[in-house]
Amino acid sequence: DDLVGMDNLVANTAYLRAQQIDRTELRKQRLTMTLPKPRRCSAQQAAVGQKYESLCEQQPIGKKLFQQFLLASKPQYAAATMFLEELNKWSFAEDQTREKLQQHILTEFCQPASKCFISYLRGEAAEILHHLSNKNFDEEQMDKIREATKDFLKGKPFLEYLQSSFFYRFLQWKEFEKQKITDKYFYEFRTLGRGGFGEVCAVQVKHTGQMYACKKLNKRRLKKKGGERLALLEKQILEKINSLFIINLAYAYDNQTHLCLVMDLMNGGDLKFHIYNLGKRGIRMDRVIYYTAQITTGILHLHSMNIVYRDMKPENVLLDGKGQCRLSDLGLAVELPMGKTICQKVSAGTTGYMAPEILRQDIYEMVAARLPFKDFREKVQNDEVTRRTLEDKCKFEHKDFDAPTKDLINRFLKKKVENRLGCNSCILTNYTSFFQSINLHRLEAGLVEPPWVPKSNVVYAKDTNEFKDVSEEVDIQLNHKDENFFQEFSTGAVSIQWQKEMIESGVFDELNSHQMNGQSCEPRWK
Ligand code: ADP
Ligand code: MG
Ligand code: MG
Repeated sequence: DDLVGMDNLVANTAYLRAQQIDRTELRKQRLTMTLPKPRRCSAQQAAVGQKYESLCEQQPIGKKLFQQFLLASKPQYAAATMFLEELNKWSFAEDQTREKLQQHILTEFCQPASKCFISYLRGEAAEILHHLSNKNFDEEQMDKIREATKDFLKGKPFLEYLQSSFFYRFLQWKEFEKQKITDKYFYEFRTLGRGGFGEVCAVQVKHTGQMYACKKLNKRRLKKKGGERLALLEKQILEKINSLFIINLAYAYDNQTHLCLVMDLMNGGDLKFHIYNLGKRGIRMDRVIYYTAQITTGILHLHSMNIVYRDMKPENVLLDGKGQCRLSDLGLAVELPMGKTICQKVSAGTTGYMAPEILRQDIYEMVAARLPFKDFREKVQNDEVTRRTLEDKCKFEHKDFDAPTKDLINRFLKKKVENRLGCNSCILTNYTSFFQSINLHRLEAGLVEPPWVPKSNVVYAKDTNEFKDVSEEVDIQLNHKDENFFQEFSTGAVSIQWQKEMIESGVFDELNSHQMNGQSCEPRWK
């Protein structure tokens, strides 16, 4: 027993220490790194058919380089990008900061005499600008001017960018992004959880120090249980999503034995752990409201992409180091074909959490530390839980339920779909009495401070020995067909997440400046 405890302690120490890595040391190790030359064919591929939105707005490195290009070329272009930046800050600011920003925008960009006057506007937008009062403006006016600014940038500035050395640099980064990913790319740390096809462990990218969680899917077990198609589906859905409230995928690769999904590390633990494993059962009400708001925002984001989640339960809601939560485990999620708005026959999910279009029972369980239709540790057949879910009225015996919470849960638990909150036009965000303490606009942008922050010296996971698994699928043989499938899965780095990692770790700035000092950036490849 002591030895097992010792193993766990060692694993925890290594895991916690990795998170406090010395970045200057890493920087020294990177001094010899350089960007590859883009190959002619891939250069053309990146340029042809690529839209402005993807190249200059969605991809973080693309956005940075386009901005750098704008700032370095003409005063008009520089004004446009600085103006958009300030406008963005303004739209999320509150109170005095908001007023100050508004004044700043008016004096710096909106007067013909200003140094950065946005004189490129034409037509209606120019009219609006001309008639702007010099004291304030409203959202609607600024929306029009913002759109006109983007339209301007999409035209000549964008075409000039595609011919510039900044875009050549972008192609070099895209070439780098395509590198093959193997186990060697990461250091591996302790196991954090166990899923149906293998364990989830913490990993760290060697050259950036970035921590991630790696969900490993055993190839033989996938084949044995017929889970291959679902694994690919989970990967394909994950790589499409870019939301603050849903786990992001950074890499997909494979090794001899496993398919690996490398995702955001959620080192604050899952909500099930918080409800049941940390002394006092249940979660404080202010936290329940905050998590519910974030989960709902995540769900609505999925719905806006025609994706249905179908596996809502506390162990699939994970907290990050700051105390913000994200939905994880999209293994049961499905993408609805265009035009279809509702799943006809939903038989997915976990018993006790059925009818899973939207949260419902999670709020109940966070408060009461039991399920609405199943008591904590109650031994009861799935059939009986299903019967209760269909027929019984929800009871609220726990003292922490207040009136708005009870009301909200009852609306979520309506037996008929058409009466249920989240399933008709009455969406959750209109339901303000439950959320009155939260500014939902700021929450959506990740700007609302979490009510509770995980301690940086605590590991919010069960001891490592509880995840031990020795079973091996020796009777399953892998063939050519399986290998082809594994290759379809192993696509390497996911653009947006990988580019974010390069920027946040400082690698982006470093490599750009090495190259500026050393050999100059080639302006053309023709
Ligand atoms: P499965 O689809 O097999 O249920 P999950 O994706 O739910 O697998 O992962 C299993 C467990 O691993 C989770 O319940 C959670 O405790 C842990 N886990 C999963 N993803 C992460 C992550 N990104 N960060 C930290 N822990 C995670
Ligand atoms: Mg799960
Ligand atoms: Mg799953």
